[in-house]
Amino acid sequence: MKIFGVTGWKNSGKTGLMERLVAHFTVQGLRVSTLKHTHHGVDLEKPGTDTHRHRVAGAQEVVLVSSARIATLHELRDDPEPRLAELIRGLKPCDLVLVEGFKGAPHPKIEAHRAATGEALLAPANETIRAVASDEALPDLDLPLFDLDDTASIASFIAETTGIAPRKSSGLKNDCFALPPGVHWTPVDEALNTLKSRLSPVVETEAVPTAQSRGRILASEHVAARSNPPGANSAVDGYAFAYADLPKGDVIELPLMTERAAAGDPFSGAVAKGHAIRILTGALLPQGVDTVVLQEDVQVDGQTLRFPAGVKPGANARAAGEDVEAGKLALSASHKMRAPDVGLLSALGLPEAQVFKRLRVGVLSTGDELAEPGSTLDPARTYDANRPMLLSLAEGWGYTPVNLGHVADDRDALRAAFDAAATKADVILTSGGASAGDEDHVSALLKETGSLHHWRIAIKPGRPLALAQWNGTPVFGLPGNPVAALVTTLIFARPAFSVLAGGAWLGTDAISLPAAFKKSKKAGRREYLRARVNKDGQVDAFKSEGSGRISGLSWATGLVELPDAAMDITPGTPVRFLPYASFGIT
Ligand code: AMP
Ligand code: MG
Repeated sequence: MKIFGVTGWKNSGKTGLMERLVAHFTVQGLRVSTLKHTHHGVDLEKPGTDTHRHRVAGAQEVVLVSSARIATLHELRDDPEPRLAELIRGLKPCDLVLVEGFKGAPHPKIEAHRAATGEALLAPANETIRAVASDEALPDLDLPLFDLDDTASIASFIAETTGIAPRKSSGLKNDCFALPPGVHWTPVDEALNTLKSRLSPVVETEAVPTAQSRGRILASEHVAARSNPPGANSAVDGYAFAYADLPKGDVIELPLMTERAAAGDPFSGAVAKGHAIRILTGALLPQGVDTVVLQEDVQVDGQTLRFPAGVKPGANARAAGEDVEAGKLALSASHKMRAPDVGLLSALGLPEAQVFKRLRVGVLSTGDELAEPGSTLDPARTYDANRPMLLSLAEGWGYTPVNLGHVADDRDALRAAFDAAATKADVILTSGGASAGDEDHVSALLKETGSLHHWRIAIKPGRPLALAQWNGTPVFGLPGNPVAALVTTLIFARPAFSVLAGGAWLGTDAISLPAAFKKSKKAGRREYLRARVNKDGQVDAFKSEGSGRISGLSWATGLVELPDAAMDITPGTPVRFLPYASFGIT
C-alpha cells in the first residue's frame, strides 16, 4: 500500500485535486482509498439522524450499514487521536492511499496552492512536501512545480515518487448487465433530471425564410406583424346586409345592389341602408354591412333577395383580428417549427423566422471489430450499424448529421478523432467503449478530461453512459450494443439534444395499451421492450430480449416502458407504449 498526501491552506484547491487524482488513478485500474483530517469541531453526521441519536444517547461505536456502504463512528472520548499509521493499518488493502491534510506526518506530499488564498507556501520549510501544484508561477521554488489543473502530470509524479504502476482493470465488462449488490445505479428519472437541469443551448442564431423553417427551433418570440384576418370578411358565399336595418316578419325581403364583393376584389363603395349585396367567401365586408346569409338559404327574384328570418347578427362574418391580432404573440421561443406553424407565421406577415442554427450532431463509432457494411466477409468483423442509425436519427430530428467515421480501440487515434470532432460538431455521440472494461477507451480517454460523468443508470437495455466534454463540446458516450445504443439515445440524448439545439426538454408521450404478452419484471431497473401494436390494439413484445437482436428494433413500431418497480404482466395488463413516432422516428 503506497501513501501520498495532498496538503495546503484552506481554499488552496486540496479537495478538488484529491478528487481528480482519485478519479485518475481509479480509471487506471488502481484501488484508491483516501484519508482526510478534519477540524476538531466538524461533526461527521447530521444532527437528528438515527445514528446521531444513537451516539448522543451514549453509544461508543455506531455502525451504519446499507447494501452499498458502511460507516463506523467511533467516539474517541478520552483516547488520543490515532496516528496516521494506525489509521492506515485499519484500511482494506488497496494500491494507493491518498491522504488529505496530516501535514505533520512523514509521508511524501504535494502542496496545493492558490494565489487567491494570500498564504505563503508550507514548502520548502516542510520537508515532506515534494512538489507544489499552483495556479500561479513560483519562480523561486526549488521543488517540482505543476499547474494545479494538470492532473495527469501530477498523477505521473505521484506514480514515480511512490512506485505505483497503473494496472488494467479486471473483467468488469462481462457482468455489466448484472446489478452488482452495493453499487448505486441511478434511476432513469434522476439521470434525466440531472441532464435537464444542466443543459442549455450551444448553437448560435440566424434568420431563415419562414417558408424554409420547418424543423427549425425559434430563437425568439414571434409576434404578429399584422392581424389575421387583416380585415372583416365573409366566411361564405352569400349576401351581406346590416342586421340592425332588417325589416320585421317571418320572411325578409331586401333590395339587392347591382355590385358584388369578391375575394381580392372588394366593393369600395358603401351599401345603401336597408340593402343587401352579393358577397363571396373571403371578400372584405363592404361599408354598411355586418351580417351574411348563405346563398343556399335565399331566393333571388330579379333585384330582390328573400330569406327566412332568424339569421343571427354578425352571422358568417369574420371580424378583423378575430384569429390573431397584430402585435400579439404568435409563437414562443424554443418552439420547433412544423408545417402549420410555417402557415401561421406566413399569415401573420412574418416572411423570416429567427431560429437557432442547426445543431451539428457528430457520430463516431469505436471498436476494433467494426467494419463498413459489406466491406468484408470476415466473421470476426461486425458491420457498423450504429453510425448510420444514429446519423439517420439526428437527421430526422432536424439536426445536421456529421459523420465522424470509425476509430479502432486505440487511445491516440481516438484522441485525434475527438480533437477533430470538437471543431466539426456541437455535440458528439460515440458508441462503444463506454463501460469500464479493458477495451473501453472512450471511457478512459474521457476520464482524462476530468469532466467525465460515468453514469450507471438503472436501465435495461443499457450500460453505463459516459457523459463528458471534449474541448468544451459535450460528448454522449453510448454503449456499443445497437439495441442499447438506440434506447439510450431515445431516452437520454433526444431530450438533451433538443435543449442543446435551443428547444424544449422533451418528455415521452406514452399511450396506455393492453399487453398481449406475459412477463415478470424484477424491481430495480426501468426496462424498454421492442414492441408493436397488433391488429387487436394490444401490444406485442419482440420474441427475444437479446440485446444483440437488431431485427427487433426494426420489427418494432415503438417501445414498451416498464417501471423501475417490479411488475407482473399478463395479457390485458395495461402497459406504457411509446410509439416510435413520438420519438420522432419515421
Ligand atoms: P462495446 O460497448 O464497445 O463493448 O460494444 C458492445 C457490443 O456492441 C459489441 O458486441 C460490439 O461489437 C457491438 N458494437 C459496438 N459498436 C457497434 C456498431 N457501431 N455497430 C454495431 N455493433 C456495434
Ligand atoms: Mg468496443
